[in-house]
Amino acid sequence: MRGSSCFPIGRGCPGLDEGCTLLGQLGRKRLTLKLFWPREAPLDREQSGLRLGLDVGGTKVALAVGDAAGRILARRRQPTRASGDPARDLADWLGAARALVSQAGAQPDEIAAVGLSLPGPLDRAAGRVLDPPNLPGWGHVDVRKPFAEVFRAPIALENDANAAALAEWRHGAGRGTRDLVYLTMSTGIGGGLILGGRLHRGVDSFAGELGHVRIVWEEGALCGCGRRGCLEAYAGGANWARRLAAEAPEDSRVRELGGVTPRPEHVVAAAEAGDAFALAELDRFNTFVARAIANLFFAVAPEVVVLGTIAVGAGEALCFQPLRAKVAELLAPVPADRLRIAPAELGEELPYRAALAAAETALDPDATEG
Ligand SMILES: [Zn+2]
Repeated sequence: MRGSSCFPIGRGCPGLDEGCTLLGQLGRKRLTLKLFWPREAPLDREQSGLRLGLDVGGTKVALAVGDAAGRILARRRQPTRASGDPARDLADWLGAARALVSQAGAQPDEIAAVGLSLPGPLDRAAGRVLDPPNLPGWGHVDVRKPFAEVFRAPIALENDANAAALAEWRHGAGRGTRDLVYLTMSTGIGGGLILGGRLHRGVDSFAGELGHVRIVWEEGALCGCGRRGCLEAYAGGANWARRLAAEAPEDSRVRELGGVTPRPEHVVAAAEAGDAFALAELDRFNTFVARAIANLFFAVAPEVVVLGTIAVGAGEALCFQPLRAKVAELLAPVPADRLRIAPAELGEELPYRAALAAAETALDPDATEG
């Protein structure tokens, strides 16, 4: 495409979505004019090495290409489309990754690190996923190899909750801290620990499985992990929805909004309208989350605990303010101001940031052990 005449710029340019290079000829001199869309950072080839990341969620795969300065140069999202055939799914993701690299105006050789943020369990050292629940039919699959055939760069697998913790730490609510606990608070509850400015994985990467911190010891509710009394059994979205389906009174606003399958977001909406059952449910949620946070404080004393989806949806008045008060009671006499409890900040950007955070771990030998 490069030649003596200008070619049209914009989204039709070869491979470039967010910026474009206009080439022309003046006498014997070649002219280059770079134009960029304001939405994304400009591609700077002088930056040392690009990062490619994929975050594989239950319904969506988020892909991003970023640079060493943490700027996102190109991104896309597509349905996970788990076909039951790992080779086909991996080929699909790899095709999307190649297209995105091209869209960023780069070649596969310019990718300095690849990160795959995946649901656990993982064998990170072997580059394998181990029966991921969100990808039926997968079993034990080497996900590193197909990427290694295209990208000559270190490739790291990272547990998705750890990758999200790294993302919130670097770009979200944990910026500037060294010790952070992140709780996903979604369908299930995952988490990640940043300790002393590093991701802490622990034995077999079990660190950060905060949904299974035990908060009720006598006659605890059954958790999906087979044990009883786990935080997730009380505050995980799926378990909470099951409870709501059974317990929500017929005349409650929760039932009016959610019918036979009310979910946590219906509780939040109903509580905002003053529904007594919904307010009691949120109080219960805050009570159990506060117990987990108090236990975590005495284990690792983080500067900040960052809470994701459900807590963010409930907001300050229904979640964070009452939660801080409950935690303060449990921590006393430790002054409550020693611990910040904050909503996750990245929102829609989280999967892209998590994907790129996974890629960063490929460049950090210490963080990729275990
Ligand atoms: Zn459990």
